[in-house]
Amino acid sequence: MSRKKVLCVGLIALDIVSTCERYPNEDEDMRATSQRWQTGGNACTNATVMTQLGIECEFLGSLSEGTEAEFVCKHLRDRGIEHEHCVRHSDCGTPTSVVTLSLATGSRTVLHARNNLPEMNLSAFQKVNLTNYYWIHFEGRRNEGEIVKMIAMVDEFSSKRTAHDKIVVSVELEKPRQSLVPLLDKADVVFTSKDFARFCGYSTASEAVKAFHSKVKAGATVICAWGDEGADGIGPDGEVKHSDAYCPKEVIDTLGAGDTFVAGAIYSLIKQSSIEDTLNFACKLAGLKCGMRGNDGVG
Ligand code: ADP
Repeated sequence: MSRKKVLCVGLIALDIVSTCERYPNEDEDMRATSQRWQTGGNACTNATVMTQLGIECEFLGSLSEGTEAEFVCKHLRDRGIEHEHCVRHSDCGTPTSVVTLSLATGSRTVLHARNNLPEMNLSAFQKVNLTNYYWIHFEGRRNEGEIVKMIAMVDEFSSKRTAHDKIVVSVELEKPRQSLVPLLDKADVVFTSKDFARFCGYSTASEAVKAFHSKVKAGATVICAWGDEGADGIGPDGEVKHSDAYCPKEVIDTLGAGDTFVAGAIYSLIKQSSIEDTLNFACKLAGLKCGMRGNDGVG
């Protein structure tokens, strides 16, 4: 039997990234200092970073066909990230983000087009063999109703297994959307972004994790990253823990910092680290990422 893996379910996308001395003005004709294509999407970036940390990962999501789809698939192939259960669609494009990185502020401005690629549904998820995974991470997306069903399927599977063989479920709530709220109490580990926390009415990471902790599953962990203020988390013992951010000498590229953080935290939790050590490790890894271009080389 093959070794068990981590399955990351969500988006793979093309990022067209222009690095600029400063953010351009509207209608300005300005030169970028560099421009590149890279593979993005939260779940794909989670898998990319975890693979570099030595965790065997599979990516599961929708894929289109054509040049852009080939580009992102090559990214997975080159890094040994399995993707055999992805669902192919022919009459649509690859989700694409046009990203402007400003060297003056370290900001990353993202314009995203989904290009009509359908979201994953339960029937695609039913094709995976759950005995192959010990951890399944879901990126909370617009198919939240389907994600609820996928998690129910995993829970049903785990309910018939010994404690050792149960699958840990994590979910990331990033976008500020009401429709993601029903995912809060479904997972063993819940990651929320600053945007989602603010949308829910909280103005600090510690306020957010305290409030979310009363809404998650009994015994679950909640972690909230807050940009250059670091991150807070609460584990099953109910104590709030914090890590400061680790600022690089120069902030070069914050695109995917949150995804790197989530990947680092999952890695650390897999290694049975405490919440405090997990937050520290994830912030260190995300800080390292902010000081370099792209996500290759963080592991
Ligand atoms: P996202 O990329 O999803 O917007 P955040 O901005 O919340 O995510 O960042 C996630 C993590 O990345 C933070 O908890 C922090 O550890 C790290 N991080 C983000 N921005 C910086 C920064 N400017 N300097 C150092 N670390 C950062």
